[in-house]
Amino acid sequence: MDKGLLVVISGPSGAGKGTIYQQVIERTGMKRSVSVTTRKPRPGEVEGVSYYFRTEEEYQQMIAAGEFLETAEVYNNYYGTPKAPVFENLERGYDVLFEVDVHGAKSIKKKYVDAITIFVMTPDFEVLEERLKGRGTETESSLKTRLGAAKRELGKYEMFDYIVFNESIDQAVKDVLDIINAEKRKVKNNLSVITALLGNNQQ
Ligand code: 5GP
Repeated sequence: MDKGLLVVISGPSGAGKGTIYQQVIERTGMKRSVSVTTRKPRPGEVEGVSYYFRTEEEYQQMIAAGEFLETAEVYNNYYGTPKAPVFENLERGYDVLFEVDVHGAKSIKKKYVDAITIFVMTPDFEVLEERLKGRGTETESSLKTRLGAAKRELGKYEMFDYIVFNESIDQAVKDVLDIINAEKRKVKNNLSVITALLGNNQQ
């Protein structure tokens, strides 16, 4: 059986990567990666579904044992992507979808060169600013910080395989699905099937 694809959706906050991620998961049935965190569960969060909740000591042991594909400290808590479930899914032929920030995308690509990385961006920075303002959660200074970060993140364009301009969510989801479909149709991702077909047809 051919391995599944590891697809990473990344990009600045406000560009819509979370919405695209959800819709692509719903439309394709791709596996999502469940992260490990040291933060306490919020009401309604389920172990193994929302996150794997671990103590800081357990988390440090996992780091030492090299169990993470990438790990980051966010607001005084640790968050990381455990390697084993991702690779198990890929080996079983399932495609796995990630939604991570640009740092996370870089770490994943470094550890797994076959990762397909997609940068989601608004058509321009004015639209990004409007979307961030529309959330109503940003102060003037956090807005500036996020816009500055967005520019730096786009500056890392060379590490991405694809860019999707999120002008309309339906079109952006379609673009991501098209990318995944094209990758699925690459010959190198179908060698087991091809070999099996050739084997069966040999005289
Ligand atoms: P929350 O605590 O609200 O669930 O998440 C806080 C932040 O941690 C979010 O920005 C989220 O994207 C980030 N985060 C969640 N899981 C991971 C992960 O596995 N790796 C990295 N690098 N960031 C993560």
